[in-house]
Amino acid sequence: MLDFVDSIETKIASLGPSKIDSPILSKRKDVSRHFVAENERIMVNITQSYIEECIRNKKSFLSFEVAGPRQKIYFDPSKLKCGVVTCGGLCPGTNDVIRALVMELYHVYGVKNIYGFQYGLEGFISRYGHPLVELTPERVASIHELGGTILGTSRGAQDIGEIVDTLDRLNIGILFMIGGDGTLRAAAKISEEVLHRGLKCSVIAIPKTIDNDIYLVEKSFGFDTAVEKATEAIRAAHTEAIAAYNGIGLVKLMGRYSGFIAAYATLGLREVNFTLIPEVDFDLEGEHGFLEALRKRLKKRRHAVIVVAEGAGQKFFADQDLGTDPSGNPRLGDIGKFLVEKIKEYFVSIKMPITLKYIDPSYIIRSLPANANDHVYCGFLAQNAVHAGMRGKTAMLVSCRHNVYVHVPIKAAVIKRKIINPNSTLWFSVLETTGQPRLKN
Ligand code: ATP
Ligand code: MG
Repeated sequence: MLDFVDSIETKIASLGPSKIDSPILSKRKDVSRHFVAENERIMVNITQSYIEECIRNKKSFLSFEVAGPRQKIYFDPSKLKCGVVTCGGLCPGTNDVIRALVMELYHVYGVKNIYGFQYGLEGFISRYGHPLVELTPERVASIHELGGTILGTSRGAQDIGEIVDTLDRLNIGILFMIGGDGTLRAAAKISEEVLHRGLKCSVIAIPKTIDNDIYLVEKSFGFDTAVEKATEAIRAAHTEAIAAYNGIGLVKLMGRYSGFIAAYATLGLREVNFTLIPEVDFDLEGEHGFLEALRKRLKKRRHAVIVVAEGAGQKFFADQDLGTDPSGNPRLGDIGKFLVEKIKEYFVSIKMPITLKYIDPSYIIRSLPANANDHVYCGFLAQNAVHAGMRGKTAMLVSCRHNVYVHVPIKAAVIKRKIINPNSTLWFSVLETTGQPRLKN
C-alpha cells in the first residue's frame, strides 16, 4: 500500500497554450485514442476512508495530471532545440533514458536538434570547456547496453544564472534533466529563473535515484536492477556463511537515508537474518543489542547473513566530523567496515571463533546496465517526459502512480524524502522474513 500523501501542489506549470497539431496525428491515423486529454487526472490517494472523508467534508480529491501524448502541442518540432543532462551518482538505466528521449523526439516528433550537456551542470558553464554532444539516433542506438551515462556526470554547485544564460544563448526549448534530489532542486531553480526572464524553455526532470528515495515517485528507474544484483551479493554471502562453522556473511548495500534496496533485496533472497536500515534504530551492545542477537543466531544455526544499508547506524559516527561531498551532501560513516570491526572485537572478547566475509557490491551495482524491467520502465518515463515537454509543460517530473504515468510538480517532490515507514507492511514483511528481534535495549 502506498503511503498517504497530504495536501500538496499538483498543478503543472505550462509555457503557454498548445496550438500546434501533434505530428503523431499525421503519422498514424489510428492513434487518436492514445491521446490524453488535458483534464485527465488520477487520484493520488485511493483508500475508501480518504474518499469518504473528502465527500463528507466537500473536499476535492488530490489528483495528478495524467502523462501521455497530447493532440495539440506547444513547440514547433522543426524549430525546436532540446538539451539533455545527467547529474549525481551513477544509476542503471540512465543511458536507456537518454536513448528513449532521443528516439522519441527524433522519430515521433521530428525534432532534429538534440544536444547533450556533458558532466552534469558543469556542461552549461563555458569555463569547464566541456563541448556539447550532438545526440542523434545513430549516436544513441546501442547505449542502453552500457552502464553509466554517455554524457558523464558531476556533483558540485553551479551558478543558476550562468546555466540559464547558456540555455538562452543556445535557444534550448526543452531541457531534460536526469538526476536525484539535488538535480531536482537545481531544476526547480532553473525553471524559476527561466520564467523570471520570460524565456520559453521547458524544464522536465526524470528522477534518478538508485536508493528509490524520492517523494511521490513510487519506484525510480534502476531500482529493480539494483535489487536483482544485490540479491546476488546476498547469495554469495550466504554461501560463504554456511560453508564455515559460525560463518557470517555481511553485505553493505546502497541506501543513504532510505533502506529500500536493503529491504527489497532481503525479500528477494530470503536468506537474510538481520537487515539494518537508516529508518530503524538499533543498539550494538547490551542484552538486546545486535551483537548478542547475532551470537544467539550463530549458536542456533551456526551461520548468519546480515544486510546493512549504507546510511544505517549513523549515530555511531556522531562524534566524527565527516564533512560533505561537492554537492553539500553529508558524508556518511562507513557502517560496513565499522560492523566488521565490532563483530570481530565482540567474538574475540567472548572467545567464540567466527569466520566473517564482508561484501560491498555498491560500485558494481551502480555501474550496471539496466535489466529488462528497467529497460521497459526507462523507456516509458522518457517517452512521457518528451510528451510533456512538447506540450510546453515545465518545472515537473515524470512519475508513476497506481501504474499510471503522471506529471508531478518538482517543488512537491522535493518537500521531503521517501523513506520506509517502520510500521508499514514492507518493513513487517522484512522482519517476518529475517526473524530479527527489535535490537534495542
Ligand atoms: P544522487 O541521487 O546521485 O544523489 P543528485 O541529483 O541528488 O543525485 P547531487 O550531486 O546532490 O546529485 O546534485 C546534482 C547537481 O545538482 C549538482 O551539480 C549540485 O550542485 C546541484 N544541486 C544540488 N542541490 C542544489 C540546490 N539546492 N540548488 C541548486 N543546485 C543544486
Ligand atoms: Mg542526492
